Amino acid sequence: MDQAASLLAQGQVVAFPTETVYGLGANALDSGAVEAIFKAKGRPQDNPLIVHLGEQSQADKYVQAIPPKARLLMERFWPGPLTLVLAKTGQVPPVVTAGLDTVALRVPDHPLALELLRQTGFPLAAPSANLSGRPSPTRAEHVLADLGGRIPAILDGGETGWGLESTVLDCTVEPFRLLRPGGVTLEDLRALVPVTFAASEGEDKEPPRSPGMKYQHYAPDATVFLLTGQGVRARIQEESEPYRRRGQKVGVMTWNERSHLYSGFTVLPMGSEGDLQTLANKLYHLLRQADHLGLDVLYIEGVPEADLGLAIMNRLRKAADYREIKT
Ligand code: AMP
Ligand code: MG
Repeated sequence: MDQAASLLAQGQVVAFPTETVYGLGANALDSGAVEAIFKAKGRPQDNPLIVHLGEQSQADKYVQAIPPKARLLMERFWPGPLTLVLAKTGQVPPVVTAGLDTVALRVPDHPLALELLRQTGFPLAAPSANLSGRPSPTRAEHVLADLGGRIPAILDGGETGWGLESTVLDCTVEPFRLLRPGGVTLEDLRALVPVTFAASEGEDKEPPRSPGMKYQHYAPDATVFLLTGQGVRARIQEESEPYRRRGQKVGVMTWNERSHLYSGFTVLPMGSEGDLQTLANKLYHLLRQADHLGLDVLYIEGVPEADLGLAIMNRLRKAADYREIKT
């Protein structure tokens, strides 16, 4: 912890655990340090970063005014996996927000992240600690696999809790707009304030509100197909036939109870049927396993888009590069 804090104070980057995924942090008030994040990840410069705070009271320094409804959400969900986009002050360097006049803020709910923020005393700009385009890291080993040799330190806190990135909510418009579904669900938010969400968000039909939405994310090396609807199993058998005939390695991601339906496939088990919490938690690990197993093709059984299912399907569509087969 001391070494991590002192590296950060020197303007270096350090990977650290949060309750969502591992972040690659740097002093958000030091432009040079923040530039090092983009460099280590190979992240496009126009994709802004989330600023992590040690406590809610620090938000006032970095945003113009906090609308009462946003304040309500902070009080209910911070510390936690909810990122709020608000109009920024001059305290936040342009490199953090990719030149936007808004900044994304959250207070992470993880003892090591909070202790690190307390020791450094400055906010940490931190995207997920993976190479750009790769699945987000949920274990220190994932960070090491992607960024080993490119960053000076990883603070190892074991497996992260949620396993999916935070929910991102634009609070500069009325009603607030969900930019990225995550651990705090749309249902959770709507219980307190009105929120809009366009399901097509991130599918390149309009200029992205959240710049990160235009980039492919979370992708394993295999060609991924996402299947939804009735008759998913028969369709996977049929679609995979040509690949299997050519001797390619074909995988399927399915619930434990359905694994036996897929003999001849490499099965990546999603957990007990309907347990979305467990699936969220292991999703990125499963996608990375697809690479370790050397899969050429991976079929994923979709889940219902309610509660955590909305965030899970959002990530799966990106992993599949929008190759979705509706049966
Ligand atoms: P990551 O840290 O890699 O999980 O990505 C952070 C997400 O928050 C990306 O989708 C960004 O585009 C989004 N984001 C960060 N700052 C802003 C902002 N000021 N306005 C809109 N979206 C933002
Ligand atoms: Mg990321």
